[in-house]
Amino acid sequence: MTTPRLIDAFSRKINYMRISVTDRCNLRCVYCMPPEGLKLMDHREVLSYEELLRVARVAVALGIQKIRITGGEPLVRRGITEFIAKLSAIEGIQDLSLTTNGTLLSKMAGELKSAGLNRINISLDTLRRDVFEKITRVDALQSVLDGIAAAKAAGFDPIKVNVVAMRGVNDGEILDFVKLAADLDIEVRFIEYMPSREEFWEKNALVPAEEILKVIGSAFALTPARREATSGPCRVFSLPQRGRVGVISPLSEHFCGDCNRVRLTADGKLRGCLFVSRERDLKEILRNPALGEREIEEALKATIMEKPEGHKLSERQDSGEKCGLAMSRVGG
Ligand code: SAM
Ligand code: SF4
Repeated sequence: MTTPRLIDAFSRKINYMRISVTDRCNLRCVYCMPPEGLKLMDHREVLSYEELLRVARVAVALGIQKIRITGGEPLVRRGITEFIAKLSAIEGIQDLSLTTNGTLLSKMAGELKSAGLNRINISLDTLRRDVFEKITRVDALQSVLDGIAAAKAAGFDPIKVNVVAMRGVNDGEILDFVKLAADLDIEVRFIEYMPSREEFWEKNALVPAEEILKVIGSAFALTPARREATSGPCRVFSLPQRGRVGVISPLSEHFCGDCNRVRLTADGKLRGCLFVSRERDLKEILRNPALGEREIEEALKATIMEKPEGHKLSERQDSGEKCGLAMSRVGG
C-alpha cells in the first residue's frame, strides 16, 4: 500500500508534525518567558498521552512520516519516555526526534535511546556560565553540557545544538560554538532570533545568518554539506576535519517555501504556521464521543490546506502587527 501524501494549497508536501507535550519548563529564557513564567494551562486542558497517540496514528496513516516532540520542556513531563516508546512503535514513523533544553538529559539520554528516539536537538545559547544564567535565569550550564555528553554516550547521531544568536549577548561566542562542533563532532546551528515575546523583542538583537556565516568563514573553511531529509530549513556546512555548522533564517521568506510541517499545541490546537495564529481545536474532537478518527483526519487536512504561503513577518512587523506567539505553548 502506498502512503497517501499530504499536499497543501501551495504544492508543498507535508510530512512532518511537531507535537508540544507541555507548556511547562524548568528554565525561563528571556526571549520565551517572563521571569515568573507564563500562565500555565490547566492540567485538564493538556492532551493526555493516549490522546496524543491517537492523533499521531491518524496523522501517520495520512502521510506524516516525521514527528518531533517539543514543549515547553518535554523532559519535565512525567512518563515522557514511555510515551516516546509507544510513539516509536507506530508503523510508518520514519523519524522521531526531540527538542530539549538538555538540563535533564544526562539522566535520561540512555532510556530515551532505548525507547526508540532517533534524534535530539539541544538548545544552548552560550558556553559561559554567567551568560547562561542571564539568558535562562537559572544556573544550569553544566547540566546541559553533561546532557550533551550523555546524548553522545548513548549513541545519538546526529546531535544538533541550536543556538539563538543575539547581538550583545552571545554574538561574541560564534567561533567558540564552531569549535564545540568540531571537538564533539556534532552539528551546531545558529538560529536567527524571532519576535516571539513581543514585549522582549528588540529588532537590533537579530544577528542575520549571512553575518554569522561571515564570522565563521573568516576562521574556518566551510564546505556546503549535502542536503538531508532532516536538514529542514537549515543551510548546513561541513567543517574541515569533523563537525558541521548551520544557519536558520526563520525571518526570511525562503524558509516558508520548503515548509513541510504542521504543529499540535499541548492543549490540542492544530496550527499550520508558527507565526499565524489560526488554529483548529482538536481537543474538542478528541473529547467528543460522537466524533471519531474521520473528524481528526478532516481537521488535519483542513489545517494543512489553510497553511499560509509565507509568514510575511517582516511586512507584518513594519505595519506594527503582533503575532502573539507563546513559543512554550505552540512549541518551538
Ligand atoms: N524547551 C525546549 C528547548 O528549549 O529546546 C523546547 C521548546 S523551545 C520553545 C524550542 C526552541 O525555540 C529553543 O531552541 C528555543 O531557543 C527556541 N526559541 C524560543 N524563543 C525563540 C525566539 N524568540 N527566537 C528564536 N528561537 C526561539
Ligand atoms: Fe523553556 Fe525552551 Fe522556552 Fe527556554 S526556550 S524557557 S528552555 S521552553
